[in-house]
This record gives sequence, C-alpha cells and structure tokens, in this order.
Amino acid sequence: MNFTQEIARRRTFGIISHPDAGKTTLTEKLLLFGGAIQEAGAVKSNKIKKGATSDFMEIERQRGISVATSVLAFEYEGTKINILDTPGHKDFAEDTFRTLTAVDSVIVVIDVAKGVEEQTEKLVEVCRMRNIPMIVFINKLDREGKDAFDLLDEVEQKLNLRVTPLSFPIGMGYDFKGIYNLWEKNVNLFSGDSRKNIEETIEISDLSNKSLDELIGTETADQLRENIELVQGIYPEFNQQEYLDGTLQPVFFGSALNNFGVRELLDCFVKIAPTPRPKQSAERVIQPDEKDFSGFVFKIHANMDPKHRDRLAFIKIVSGKFERNVPYLHVRHDKKLKFSSPNAFFAEKKQIVDTSYPGDIVGLHDTGNFKIGDTLTQGEAIHFKGIPSFSPEHFRYINNADPMKSKQLNKGIDQLMDEGVAQLFTLELNGRKVIGTVGALQYEVIQYRLEHEYGAKCTYENLNVHKACWIEPENPKSEEFKDFKRVKNKFLAKDKKGQLVFLADSPFTLQMTQQKYPSIKFHLTSEYK
Ligand code: GDP
Repeated sequence: MNFTQEIARRRTFGIISHPDAGKTTLTEKLLLFGGAIQEAGAVKSNKIKKGATSDFMEIERQRGISVATSVLAFEYEGTKINILDTPGHKDFAEDTFRTLTAVDSVIVVIDVAKGVEEQTEKLVEVCRMRNIPMIVFINKLDREGKDAFDLLDEVEQKLNLRVTPLSFPIGMGYDFKGIYNLWEKNVNLFSGDSRKNIEETIEISDLSNKSLDELIGTETADQLRENIELVQGIYPEFNQQEYLDGTLQPVFFGSALNNFGVRELLDCFVKIAPTPRPKQSAERVIQPDEKDFSGFVFKIHANMDPKHRDRLAFIKIVSGKFERNVPYLHVRHDKKLKFSSPNAFFAEKKQIVDTSYPGDIVGLHDTGNFKIGDTLTQGEAIHFKGIPSFSPEHFRYINNADPMKSKQLNKGIDQLMDEGVAQLFTLELNGRKVIGTVGALQYEVIQYRLEHEYGAKCTYENLNVHKACWIEPENPKSEEFKDFKRVKNKFLAKDKKGQLVFLADSPFTLQMTQQKYPSIKFHLTSEYK
C-alpha cells in the first residue's frame, strides 16, 4: 500500500459523552466488530467510580487503565480506525479538550432517557467551535426514554446542531422493535438477545411493502411510515460535505449494550468520516500528504512505574511518515531526537512499530523533553496551534512542607505541569507559586504524586481567585498598561510559558478592571491570537 492509500484508509476519532451514557460500552462493541477483542468486558471503563477507596486513589487506579485505553486501534473492512479516549469526568475536562485537538471527528453518545447532559454540552461546544465533524448516537433504546422527535429537538437546541437522522427507532423501551435505517434503507429487527453478536437485517427498500406489516404489525408499520415521512419532511437531506464542514450532524439510534444499531453506525462512519485532516500551524497549514513528517504532543502519561521515571508522550502524526530511529526536530528545544522504540496502539496492546502514518498516534518514551503542545518535525520550524489552556476553576498556594526537599518539589511540580495535571502561576510580587485546577480532586492527586513519585511534601493555602485572565495590552509601552501593572501588581502572575496573567478575585473586580483599562484585553484562554 502506498503513502496516499495509507492516509486515505485512516479514521481517527473520539467518543464524547456525559458519564454513563454508554461510551465504554459502545467502544467495546466497535472493537468487537473489528475483531480486535473477543468478548465483552475487555475494555476497562475510564470512569471515576465512587466507592470504598478515596477518590484520588481511584484516580491513580484510573491512570493505569487510561494508559491502556488512551488509543484503541483496529482494522475494519480495510480501514484503520483509531479511537482516542476522552475522560467524561468534569474534573478531567482539560484532558478531553486536549485530546479533541488530535481527533479528526467525533461520535457523541446521548442517553435516550436523560437526553443532553452537562458534559455533553461543554464538549460538543468545543467541537462545534472547531468545526469537527460529529455523528450523534442516541443510546439505550431498549429502555423507556424520550420521544425521538423531542430528543432531536433537544439536541438541536441545547447543542446548537443541525441534525438529520440516518436511522429511526421503531418503538422504544418495552415496545422497542428495531430500527429503520435511512442510510441503507433497511429494517433491523431487535430480538433483545444480547448474546447475539450480529443482528439480522431485512431489506425493505420500499416502506409501503406489505411484508413490513407482517414483520412488525400493521399499526407499528403505519406509525413508522408516518414517522419516516415526517423525518424526510422536517430534516435536511444528508450531505457529506456539510457533515465534513461541521454544519450538519447525522444521528443514529441504537443500544450499545445489546449491540444493536452499532454496525449501522460503524458502516456509515467508515464511509463518511474524514480521513486525517490538514492542521493549522502558526506558520502555515500542514497537509497530511506532505512528504515531511510533522506531529504534536497532545497527552503525556508519566511515572506509571514509580521505580523508573517513565513518561509516554502521545504524538498525533499530522503529515509524512514517522519512522523509528530517524532523528526529528524538537522545535521548542531546537534539538534533534530519535526514538528507538516508538509504540503504536492496537486495541489494548502497545507494540513497537517502524512506520506510522498521518492520523496515527505514537507513544514515545520520554525522559522529560516533552510538554503538551510540543511540535516534532522533519526539520522545519513550525508550531502547531490549538492546545490552549483555559482559566482554572480553583486556585491555591502551594507551599513546601519539607525544606530539605525543595529541589524534588520543584522538579515534581514542573513535571506534573508538563503533563497537564494542573496549571502553575508564579506571582510577580513575591514569586509564590499558585496551582490552578479544573477540579478540587486534582490537589489531592498532586500532593499524593509529589510524595510518592518525587519524595516531596507540600501543603496548600487558600487563595481567593475567581478567574485567571491572560493579558493582552494594545500597547505594552502605554501609560495605561504601566498603571495597570502598578495598581494590580498583587494580582499579576506569570504562567509556565511566561505569559502575563491577571488573577481576578471576583467577577466584579474583573468587570471594573476591564472598564478602567479599555486598551487591555482580558482572555479566558491562553491562546487568543
Ligand atoms: P460511559 O460512562 O459513558 O463509559 O458508560 P458505560 O458504557 O460504562 O455505560 C454506563 C451504564 O449503562 C452501564 O451499566 C452499561 O451497561 C449501561 N448501558 C450502556 N449501553 C446501554 C444500552 O444500550 N442499554 C441499557 N439498558 N444500558 C446500557
């Protein structure tokens, strides 16, 4: 197979959902179809379970699992599919946002009874802003849920999407009879037997066919005819280009647990989902079929084995071929590095590979060279965009609790920040360190990992901050900006990249400050240019 064909057969995507909607179950069924796993239960949920162990110990356990589920790759009918794992827990939203910079499309899973939930809204918004193509899968049709039309309305309104159903349920819950597939124009009857791996489909190209009445009863058949007529009347016709542009989202219905409607989803997905997409760098747009390799780090996993400082940096390949033992340019360090054992991911295994292609993810063993967002190339100094930091929700001072171990503490903080566990801000006034996180749980994780992996002890001290805003003055030399820096000195800090940040203690302060200094822009994300 040549280079162009290798690119054309790749589909790299993420499944996003609110916890419990059925992401893990769906992933598993997709892997079953690909023959990548043999039985249900093989994919571990990346969910944080509330239970006997304390939450942060649970997170540690999850960290182990999430290495295994970071990338699940499999082959299906000639395509190479890479599923990137996205944590659903809100405290790990940043992880998910970063992973979404490495996907070419997403599947959104929605629970038919619960409808659109909070995390779904947040994650879909990020995808919508980036025009990522999305397919919606409405799950758990074997349960009583919302009316299909109401649910489609809800998806349109709450998620601000323009949808078109490519399948439609026949009944629901106790009366769930199956699905009419508008894409393939056939009826798929539900037997409710989850032991069956592949369900049978009945070809009905013409809904007026009387055999439909025999199969599902005249009343249900008529209802279906009416519904499909309505669907075709209300919703736009499916158009692949609109889907690829992110302006139209096809919807499928099914039950992941019963492996029902999943094959239809997968068959359509491999036909319509995008091949690896071009990516914007600060310098220019990089096309996947360019000869020279380029890629970027979107995730780092560290210290899975506390005995060695092992880190695995996950690189999404944007262009060219990535080859083992070939030196590549680490753009930020302006240094060539080569990798003797790059890992590729297959279902649940990782394996050393010689060559990887655009769309693929490679895991590189790292001793501390990489940060999230780093670019690696054949030689050109390009910088990929699109891995912003967002203002954290929680802020605390971090103090050294063991003066003999300050070196260890600093190193630990540095590395945990590179991994993207939290954000570090250093106060301009006195050099004190402030840790900002998305969830309160992260503080326990950091404390625990500093102690167990770096032998350092820390304590926290509360700090009243509402939001961190990245500062962009119209003119850095203006009197206004000098005045701002003097008056607000106590609330200014530098982030890890040395960018200036204003720590506003309340929405009111932020508003007043903005009014007082109209020539300064206050951004809630680090990447505003
Ligand atoms: P995740 O948090 O999104 O990964 O959700 P899981 O895949 O772990 O599923 C959450 C729960 O919903 C589990 O108990 C699943 O067995 C159940 N579940 C998933 N799909 C279905 C479905 O199609 N029907 C029913 N009744 N339950 C389902």
